Amino acid sequence: MSLIKHILINNTVADKPYTLQILSRLKHVPIVFFDEPNFQSLKNTYDYEHTLLLTNLKGELLKDCPGTQCYSCCGYKILNIGANCLYKCTYCILQDYFKTKMQIVYADLEEYIPSVLEQLRNNSNSLFRIGTGEFTDSLILDDITHLSTLLIDLFRPFQTVFLELKTKTLCIDNLLSIKASDNAVIAWSLNTPRMIKDIEKGTPSLEKRLAAAKKVVDHGYHVAFHFDPIILYPNCLSEYENVIDMLFATIPADKIKWISMGTLRFTKGLKNNFYQRSPLFIDEFIQCNDNKFRYLRHRRVEAYACILSKIREYAPLVYTYLCMESPAVWTEVFGYKHNDNVIFENDFNAQVFKR
Ligand code: SF4
Repeated sequence: MSLIKHILINNTVADKPYTLQILSRLKHVPIVFFDEPNFQSLKNTYDYEHTLLLTNLKGELLKDCPGTQCYSCCGYKILNIGANCLYKCTYCILQDYFKTKMQIVYADLEEYIPSVLEQLRNNSNSLFRIGTGEFTDSLILDDITHLSTLLIDLFRPFQTVFLELKTKTLCIDNLLSIKASDNAVIAWSLNTPRMIKDIEKGTPSLEKRLAAAKKVVDHGYHVAFHFDPIILYPNCLSEYENVIDMLFATIPADKIKWISMGTLRFTKGLKNNFYQRSPLFIDEFIQCNDNKFRYLRHRRVEAYACILSKIREYAPLVYTYLCMESPAVWTEVFGYKHNDNVIFENDFNAQVFKR
């Protein structure tokens, strides 16, 4: 991939099959091998987004999505495949999560797969929604990792699993190269054309994202969409409504497994960064119970209610939910709340696992 200019390889993963497969797709890119204690000194030279770091996973491959009890969380599981992203969305929370800008890929992840499969088999009465898009864009490096097809084929036999690959990219060639799986959901984050141009710089346009989604639908996949982050600015709601018109003019509602909505939220570490980089973020924010900043509640509710109402015009049955919102906001938007996160998870699963 031409966007990768250097490869750093931790010697602990130098001989792993996955490392060798990736290198076979990155011929002519300079490689530096290193031992763990020397990593910090290499960072001075190579710590930028066009460096690919192949290293070992520390911790679990499958883990719970980090939520908090004070917000409604849906029981999502994260497959921790790597970290960081080649895009530079102004609001990206990863800027505050990781101490490096390099594209991190865990080249030993195949060794963790048997324990993940064992976990699924040992819990065959449980339902799992598993995604790779929490700490990276699920498909941003797919042309060199081919991880999408590996994971789709891995989870294909499990009727108790939905695998969600969440992206803003157009990297769908690998998805189209295999038979679609009934339990793979390809998800795009959507925003207004103005926000894509201004604060998701370098990402594909709305039209191109929807065209890519149409191709995977035509190939047989289910899709999902995330209105996240919803950014509030003058006339934004009519622009979000236009996005929904475009979405349903392109994608049949019965191919959409779920839609999420989440207004902008950010950590204290990103606050100054935001204010310096985009006047669109100058607004009134409140620091919430999870220490993240959000728009004032009534403004979030107004935005969600408007977008939900438009979605319902086209897709009354598509499961639509709020990401990391309070029970009070749920009540105002949907007229009900989940009394705890287990109930939310069970409700979500009951809706989307109907086949
Ligand atoms: S596409 Fe997602 S992961 Fe990548 S920079 Fe934008 S918000 Fe961050």
